[in-house]
Amino acid sequence: MKQTRAFKAPLAAAVSATLMATLLPLSPATAATEVTARTEVAAGTEVNAQAVTVDSAVQIATKKIQRDPSKTDVFVNKSYPLSPKKYAPKTVAVKGTNVRLQPSAASAYSKMVKAAAKDGVKIRAVSGYRSYARQAELYNYYSRIYGQSYASRISAVPGTSEHQTGLAIDVGNNNSQCGLQACFANTPVGKWVAKNGHKYGFILRYPKGQESVTGYSYEPWHFRYLGTTLAKSYKNSGAKTLEAYYGVAKSKSNNNSDKKSKGTAKTTANLNMRTGAGTNNRIVLTIPRGKSVQLTGSKKSGWYEVRYSSKTGWVSGTYLSNISMPSTPKKKESSKDSKSKSTNSKTATTTANLNMRTGAGTGNRIILTIPQGKKVSITGAKKSGWYPVKYSGKSGWASAKYLR
Ligand SMILES: [Zn+2]
Repeated sequence: MKQTRAFKAPLAAAVSATLMATLLPLSPATAATEVTARTEVAAGTEVNAQAVTVDSAVQIATKKIQRDPSKTDVFVNKSYPLSPKKYAPKTVAVKGTNVRLQPSAASAYSKMVKAAAKDGVKIRAVSGYRSYARQAELYNYYSRIYGQSYASRISAVPGTSEHQTGLAIDVGNNNSQCGLQACFANTPVGKWVAKNGHKYGFILRYPKGQESVTGYSYEPWHFRYLGTTLAKSYKNSGAKTLEAYYGVAKSKSNNNSDKKSKGTAKTTANLNMRTGAGTNNRIVLTIPRGKSVQLTGSKKSGWYEVRYSSKTGWVSGTYLSNISMPSTPKKKESSKDSKSKSTNSKTATTTANLNMRTGAGTGNRIILTIPQGKKVSITGAKKSGWYPVKYSGKSGWASAKYLR
């Protein structure tokens, strides 16, 4: 579809408005839709009607991201911290334990424990609500031991932990088998809760292989209470993470480029944000007129990539004013790219079964052992005789002595 600046036939607008009223009697976005048809799509009733249909589908598909921490469906991760940061919910002790949860989560949990017991599986509550102060203690403790970067993978920065909502619980086996370890997934409780948790409103929040999306290593013991309706909807959606379910899942590299704002602009109309540069791409949402959007620095055939309301997508530059974009973003991007390319291209072979550790030195924790004769990527500069390396999807440090 081509983009037409002028809206030619005023009659078509009237017709399309009528069409919309018929097609979308309940849509809250009727006004936005109408202008959308005018601003973006070539005039003509048929095309307008099509645009309306797409809009209505999007209205349904777009899921609201709950930021109110008192709501059961509040969305919390590293990019969506609790607000207020030190939020403290009302909690109660889970029956027969001193683990605390919000009342709704606590009673759902007890129901789940009962159901599991009927199947001969005994769930133990390990950790539930943690206050901001307690989370700060934990995080600082891990940072001291492992360094900040590794600590962030296994523990939340205070104010970003689901445990602070009182809606997350870590579970274990009665005999503590594989407690808080990946092998917990294969224990009776690990298997049972992964399979049945959603029936009681709990979902596995940090699944295997999704670290780049969730920001956390695999935690088969960490379950998040969402209420049964949302938990079932999540399970049925087939989404691998809550981030994917809400459409905010991004790869790490995308996240980095999105976070850095490369300028701002203002919308001069109710403007569709689309998945790509051009009207043939799916609408993500409609940005109201007069709103400020962040520019990511990418521009393509008159379209700009923007961030608005925690979403990223493309909008037509025709309906942006006050565009302030530094003239150097292209250069920055390419220098970043070439840097990562040159560091990524270095490889080495292990001359022994070699430990990969969380830091440069034998005082650091072992992540895994790389067998002798394997190829590893060197991802950065040498530090006191150690290289940052990547192997089998993991990153860590290895002694240069045993790398060729
Ligand atoms: Zn947890």
